Amino acid sequence: MMRRLFQERQPSVAGERLNAARREQLVARLTDEPVTIDVRRSRGAKRMTLRIPPGHANPVVTIPQRASMSSAERFVKSQAAWLTARLSERAPAQPFIHGGTIPLRGEPHLIEATGAVRGVVTIVDDADGPTLLIPGTPQHLPRRLADYLRRAARDDLHVAVEEFAARVNRRPTALRIKDTRAQWGSCSPSGVLSFSWRLVLAPPFVLRYVAAHEVAHLIELNHSAAFWKLNAELDPDHERARAWLKRHGRMLHSVGAEGPSAQI
Ligand SMILES: [Zn+2]
Repeated sequence: MMRRLFQERQPSVAGERLNAARREQLVARLTDEPVTIDVRRSRGAKRMTLRIPPGHANPVVTIPQRASMSSAERFVKSQAAWLTARLSERAPAQPFIHGGTIPLRGEPHLIEATGAVRGVVTIVDDADGPTLLIPGTPQHLPRRLADYLRRAARDDLHVAVEEFAARVNRRPTALRIKDTRAQWGSCSPSGVLSFSWRLVLAPPFVLRYVAAHEVAHLIELNHSAAFWKLNAELDPDHERARAWLKRHGRMLHSVGAEGPSAQI
């Protein structure tokens, strides 16, 4: 093996978010595509660990505070088989482009730019299966489709939240649609429910689970036994939905992504 497996990269480039602490990275050449690995120094770490945190762009190697970069490189190299296997499982990007396919309510939908000057996004069921017809030029397609999906998410979540809120007799103070990476939904102490628009991409029982979960937090703002009991009453299907999100959640984040490196 003539090629060097690793290169050290200078911390941070313009445009990247800078933490107060200096940022260290390695670039591993496992296959043709270089893989950037974030290096985290930890006072508490006794040994090195490598993981791919959910929603995080790069794999992260955690090393003891005083460990050398070359020892971190050796460690990552020793984990190359594991890392390559995990990276091969990463979801391919599903960009918003004419001719592309994205999931919507759990079903694959073809994306078609109609070029029509006027009109709204519509779904037709033709020979290729469900198709999203997007008016306007191809360069406006990503924005139009993103807006449409956000509205669809808001509509579906509104219906689900209304249903569960009526059952617990407690209404949220507001419903917000976001693009969060770390969580699918949240409930603030003041009763504001926030959700990821990406839930509309998942099968409806998954969106319903997250809606029921956050509505249950209007009553129990914790994850106590009482909370889970209420959650199960509202949504008997919640185990299946949680398992689905664990397995496919990463894929939801690849929808609308530009290229394979955008997601791991
Ligand atoms: Zn919760």
